[in-house]
Amino acid sequence: MSSWRSLHVGVIGGGIGGMSVAIALRRAGHTVTIYEKSDFAGEVGASVSCAANGTRWLHEWNVDIAKGDPVVLKKLINRDWKTGEPVSVYDLDDYEKRWGYVYNMFHRQYMHAMLKDSALGEGEGVPATLKVNHRCRDIDLKTSTVVFENGEVITHDLIVGADGIGSAVRGIIGITPEKRASDQSCLHTNVKTEDAIRLGLVNYSEDSALEYWGGQEGKWDKIVLSPCNGGELLSYYCFFPREKGDYSTQAWGAEDRPVEELLAPYPELDRQVFEHLKIGAEIKPWRLWVHDPYPYIQSGNTCLLGDAAHPMMPHQSQGACMAIEDAAALGLLFDKRYFSGDIAQALAVYEEIRLPRATRVQEAAAKAAYNINERIGFSVNKDVPTYQVEDAKKVLTIEEMNAYDMHKDIEEKLAAKRGTTYTEKFLCGLPVGLELPNGITIGAVGA
Ligand SMILES: Cc1cc2nc3c(=O)[nH]c(=O)nc-3n(C[C@H](O)[C@H](O)[C@H](O)COP(=O)(O)OP(=O)(O)OC[C@H]3O[C@@H](n4cnc5c(N)ncnc54)[C@H](O)[C@@H]3O)c2cc1C
Repeated sequence: MSSWRSLHVGVIGGGIGGMSVAIALRRAGHTVTIYEKSDFAGEVGASVSCAANGTRWLHEWNVDIAKGDPVVLKKLINRDWKTGEPVSVYDLDDYEKRWGYVYNMFHRQYMHAMLKDSALGEGEGVPATLKVNHRCRDIDLKTSTVVFENGEVITHDLIVGADGIGSAVRGIIGITPEKRASDQSCLHTNVKTEDAIRLGLVNYSEDSALEYWGGQEGKWDKIVLSPCNGGELLSYYCFFPREKGDYSTQAWGAEDRPVEELLAPYPELDRQVFEHLKIGAEIKPWRLWVHDPYPYIQSGNTCLLGDAAHPMMPHQSQGACMAIEDAAALGLLFDKRYFSGDIAQALAVYEEIRLPRATRVQEAAAKAAYNINERIGFSVNKDVPTYQVEDAKKVLTIEEMNAYDMHKDIEEKLAAKRGTTYTEKFLCGLPVGLELPNGITIGAVGA
């Protein structure tokens, strides 16, 4: 007899991760309340990509992806810093055919609104409730009671800390991050495609590509261009060494920076993209902090998710996807198929499947900060003359990200916990015998 039961879940934080887990858990039959500290001015005005390993869950959850007005990426292009000529290109032409789902590029505000509608609107399960102006101050881990700064005190069966890189819940469950400001700084700016065209500049939106200038030779300098809003907006992440401008303590909401500050680190940058940056609007710093992996991500009936659990540098474009995967894992672990009523067991498996996978991406993202050849996709473009990686067998590959079967991973770990036999030919969610382009074969001795 199944001992599944419906839970009252409190989600702390209403960002991309919080909305995603609300969708997954309401669909699994639970009653979800999201507590957000702000009054929801919403997400910031920049792009966010969603590769197939994230997109698959949006489909699974029946999210109306058209609301996010994405650009479907066709290529990853790495360009020469000075000339703009392509150095390394990773074609995504067969991406959907191989992986079943496309590589989307969203505008963050649109993606957030799309997820929010799915979490709170009509659909499978009870719509989640959103309570704004609820900043979590403390949690009694024994009774799962949350204390908010506005004085409210609410008890739940399960608490998910989706409160971002500065997570309060993380501290409450006893984790003190080992962290340091990155040696790299980032300014973000937006360029309207129509403005660029009007001025006779290159229309980069036509490439439908995630484009990178630089990132080779161990340098921190890199320009990352992503088209979003159906190609109407070009979102530029501009990286440079911290010694050329330190924004590590600046908040996103701070005043826009002057364009001269954006251009100053780039005297030698390809003039075509430089001209784009000259007309950049909403120039804002993006704080970059490097966190070592945490020893655990759950305690009692409370767990962490997304940036609260594994903040990472942005260089694999996987932070939001990892938050979505976390949400998917909780949705499955608490669904009728897998949840036996034992919350501690479900959260132990959550940690076992999520921490190693997210840590691998987190480490690869730190390496790709100064070497674009470590970035998923480019990581296997070995014929490029400037190709050089730390350890060819350790590079992160698209296969690992997209051939991953979360059901199998959960079943393997649950079988071990429950003392049952697991017979599937999958190891940690990857098919045994799968040959990765980095030379590793899943399940082979020493792999
Ligand atoms: C420069 C840069 C570029 C990036 N580009 C990409 C990309 O292309 N693709 C990708 O996949 N990822 C990208 N990421 C990463 C991605 O943005 C994050 O991983 C993702 O948004 C994390 O979502 P989250 O919900 O965990 O955290 P957040 O989005 O930070 O949400 C946390 C929420 O919790 C709320 N909150 C905080 N504290 C409390 C509290 N005490 N009580 C209640 N609420 C609270 C906050 O107000 C916020 O709404 C990028 C990151 C950076 C820095």
